[in-house]
Amino acid sequence: MATPHAPPPSSAAKQTELVWSSPACRQLIRNHSLRGTGVLAWGPAAGRQCYDLLVIGGGSGGLACAKEAAQLGKKVAVVDYVEPSPRGTRWGLGGTCVNVGCIPKKLMHQAALLGGMIRDAPHYGWGVAQAPHSWATLADAVQNHVKSLNWGHRVQLQDRKVKYFNVKASFVDTHTVCGVSKGGEETLLSAEHIVIATGGRPRYPTHIEGALEYGITSDDLFWLKESPGKTLVVGASYVALECAGLLTGLGLDTTVMIRSVPLRAFDQQMASLVTEHMAGHGTRILRGCAPEKVEKLPGQQLRVTWVDLTSDRKDAGTFDTVLWAIGRVPETASLNLEKAGVHTNPVTGKILVDAQEATSVPHIYAIGDVAEGRPELTPTAIMAGRLLAQRLSGRTSDLMDYSSVPTTVFTPLEYGCVGLSEEAAVARHGEEHVEVYHAFYKPLEFTVPQRDASQCYIKMVCLREPPQLVLGLHFLGPNAGEVIQGFALGIKCGASYQQLMRTVGIHPTCAEEVAKLRISKRSGLDPTVTGC
Ligand code: FAD
Ligand code: NDP
Repeated sequence: MATPHAPPPSSAAKQTELVWSSPACRQLIRNHSLRGTGVLAWGPAAGRQCYDLLVIGGGSGGLACAKEAAQLGKKVAVVDYVEPSPRGTRWGLGGTCVNVGCIPKKLMHQAALLGGMIRDAPHYGWGVAQAPHSWATLADAVQNHVKSLNWGHRVQLQDRKVKYFNVKASFVDTHTVCGVSKGGEETLLSAEHIVIATGGRPRYPTHIEGALEYGITSDDLFWLKESPGKTLVVGASYVALECAGLLTGLGLDTTVMIRSVPLRAFDQQMASLVTEHMAGHGTRILRGCAPEKVEKLPGQQLRVTWVDLTSDRKDAGTFDTVLWAIGRVPETASLNLEKAGVHTNPVTGKILVDAQEATSVPHIYAIGDVAEGRPELTPTAIMAGRLLAQRLSGRTSDLMDYSSVPTTVFTPLEYGCVGLSEEAAVARHGEEHVEVYHAFYKPLEFTVPQRDASQCYIKMVCLREPPQLVLGLHFLGPNAGEVIQGFALGIKCGASYQQLMRTVGIHPTCAEEVAKLRISKRSGLDPTVTGC
């Protein structure tokens, strides 16, 4: 009879080496394998590698968790596998943020902003003419940077002795996962703890004829070799508005189709200003409309038919590209979660977790976009992953705090915020207990080229009772993410309006306008900033 100290010799062609690990892991194998028959239950065709921690998903959360755990002395493996998009787009290690999210998006947003700066430049004395934009050059540069990040992640895993498998994982039982490579080779991996960090993928509409055949998503946009041309973006949240904004900024004829309200989860006054600015700067916005059909015309163009939801009137338009930006679906379908007994929310499909990030199975965790109730943001996934690794290594008992998470929507005029919207503050505390300070301001850099600043606006939502705790801060203007990041610390530390008013501004900046907010909405006074 085989024992854990004397693994059976490999006989199968594809069998991988059995790796002996920490005492805890050896115990795990012993318990797991001797259960029932008293005979080691190694699969006949595949060896089994054993780790302290196995992370499924090499994106923001998974990589952060794996690297941290390895640095704290754990024996760690990461499995990551990218299923190509329905259009066939594929990419490397690093997950959504690196490959098809934050990074390519922000670089393309920057390219779009540069177009505005080139238009400003002659006013500042530069003899430059507006040059045509080359999508191919931009895409090449962005894709090369992304590939360098893919490589960097592989090197970091190697340096930290994290074993990386490019395989698609599914559960075999509560401690074991089967990974299948592109070529169909199977690897069995066992671990004391398993972290699921498989993220999500863009949702395609299922009820719209031609949607899947002819449409693309954010999984494809940043990898297009040629310009998407005249584009219809369907959706009204982060992805839709950011993509429509950058495409407009790159000079493309762009339409956004909104079925209800823009940026539903945000302060609605701010959301209206965001779309007002976009509409005033070249993006066509179709409100209260829903697409019904996408057809391919003989000349490769797409004809989209839609319905106006108020009048029921049908309309149609011709586009080169249709981009679906209607939300994301958690990546759980192929995980075989039922084999491990991991529970999901039947409505959202996301994995149910507690404050420890533990699932219904105590040694299996879920972090990032795939976990129920978590913000779909890279920094929260990373911090949750790191803290989880530290808890598993006994370094801390600190839990991830998901309150007051700052965020920025990278629309042409950026919108950064932290804390409660005005509506949420009023709903929670009552209108009579909420004071809102606000200002329409003009960024100094807008003055010389006479840029329109009608939507540059700041609002601070506070409790009315002294010292007027700040509940939320909303900033619409250039570099919103940079502005909000610092104030987020203050708000996390419980800053009050009184303290903010004693904070000295940095002149001349847009951020200093936050420290100068004197006009309350309740006063009815004109909130337009004049003078220095
Ligand atoms: P992911 O990064 O999605 O990683 C999951 C990984 O697991 C993927 O590589 C996936 O292929 C892999 N995987 C899935 N199933 C399996 C399996 N069965 N076996 C093996 N591997 C598997 N957030 C921000 O904070 N700022 C931004 O500016 C921002 N911009 C964004 C722009 C766009 C267009 C999009 C779509 C998202 C953006 N986000 C942004 C959100 C951010 O990208 C995500 O919140 C973040 O990437 C989530 O990290 P994660 O670790 O949960 O999952
Ligand atoms: P969201 O889930 O935030 O929003 C989905 C949008 O699509 C809503 O406007 C929704 O409208 C609309 N929609 C849904 N179904 C349909 C349909 N059938 N037809 C038309 N419209 C539809 O999804 P996103 O993909 O924009 O973003 C996903 C997440 O990624 C975000 O929540 C964010 O956390 C993250 N992200 C972060 C970014 C950042 O930090 N800058 C950038 C991009 C993404 P309705 O309100 O009517 O339901």
